[in-house]
Amino acid sequence: MAFNIITKNTVRERFPNAPRPDIWKDTEDKDWNNWIWQQQKRIKSMDQLEKVIHVADDEREAFAKSHESFNMGITPYYASLIDKDDPNCPVRLQSVPKGGELVILPSDMEDPLAEERDMPTPGITHRYPDRVLFYTTHNCPVYCRHCTRKRKVADPSSSAANKQLEDGLAYIEQHKEVRDVVISGGDPLSNSDERLEYILSRLRAIEHVEVLRLGTRNLVTLPQRITDNFAQMVKKYHPLFIHTHFNHPKECTREAFDACAKLADAGCVIHNQMVLLKGVNDDPKIVKELNHKLLMMRVRPYYIFQCDMSQGISHFRTPIEAGINIIENLRGWTSGMAVPHFVVDAPGGGGKIPLLPNYLVKHEGKKWILRNYKNQQFTYEEP
Ligand SMILES: *Cc1c(COP(=O)(O)O)cnc(C)c1O
Ligand code: SF4
Repeated sequence: MAFNIITKNTVRERFPNAPRPDIWKDTEDKDWNNWIWQQQKRIKSMDQLEKVIHVADDEREAFAKSHESFNMGITPYYASLIDKDDPNCPVRLQSVPKGGELVILPSDMEDPLAEERDMPTPGITHRYPDRVLFYTTHNCPVYCRHCTRKRKVADPSSSAANKQLEDGLAYIEQHKEVRDVVISGGDPLSNSDERLEYILSRLRAIEHVEVLRLGTRNLVTLPQRITDNFAQMVKKYHPLFIHTHFNHPKECTREAFDACAKLADAGCVIHNQMVLLKGVNDDPKIVKELNHKLLMMRVRPYYIFQCDMSQGISHFRTPIEAGINIIENLRGWTSGMAVPHFVVDAPGGGGKIPLLPNYLVKHEGKKWILRNYKNQQFTYEEP
């Protein structure tokens, strides 16, 4: 029997390239596909943005009042995913300032997760028994309007200097209970390959460190950053997990597909951490489509985060029920692989608390009355 040998990946072809807006129509591919070019051409002003999309008055005003405290920065690639006429475009909501940012509610907090309090040394948050967050930079290719670390990100004065990096490495070396290090930021891929390799190799040399993770949104906002060299480099430091942050199916492009493929081919397991955002993805249909696309990109949906109580992002916050409702509409209805954990990162530093629909109807002695995803009831009896 003859087999049809697949010579090209037909799944890849279902992912369209990002469209190229007029101002970059004549840009050479070698520039467009180069992450340094993408980084250098980032949109940082309203004048530049107006050449790409039709800016609304509310956005212009919000930019004027916000850019000193929280920069705007959008890579040409990510800007090309913005619908130029739709003020509610999900990519636009995540990257262009809006009036809602200027509203600070009395309940909003500067550091809702108390990351600073649980900092034994600057740059390390050690909250859980066996793992730490390690901040290595405060830059990101795109400044997400919903960022929970707005107080730090985009502020050059808070970037992790070499001394801080060494102190963080020393802390991890001295704390034998740390078996899992989440390299974070900002976006750690804003570091050069050399600096990242230095960090990875130092961590890998620590006997008690078992797994490394890189938390990066570059797969979404600057997929060109994942070069062949970078993928070759990370291979040396396995087990290395990648945690990324796709929020909407529109972000699942050919470019993103290829970036994920390079990392997956290099042996990385990729997880997605979506943030639940009003008007962007607070709809089970959108999340299901996103998660199906992510699985085709070899990315496993891992968390859905309830939006934090950070200052200036209350316009993104949804009721908690929205997250529970999303899980209710996924579990059972689609692959278990497409069902992430919905968590609330407890204000005040309580950590991630999972919430899920209640499938337990009643519990009497040895009898457990349970319901399934279709709301049918079943009894499980213990011996
Ligand atoms: C999210 C987080 C981690 C990692 O948590 P996992 O549930 O293991 O993915 C570690 N430290 C801090 C402070 C965190 O917020
Ligand atoms: S990439 Fe992450 S850290 Fe950077 S602005 Fe976006 S949410 Fe914040």
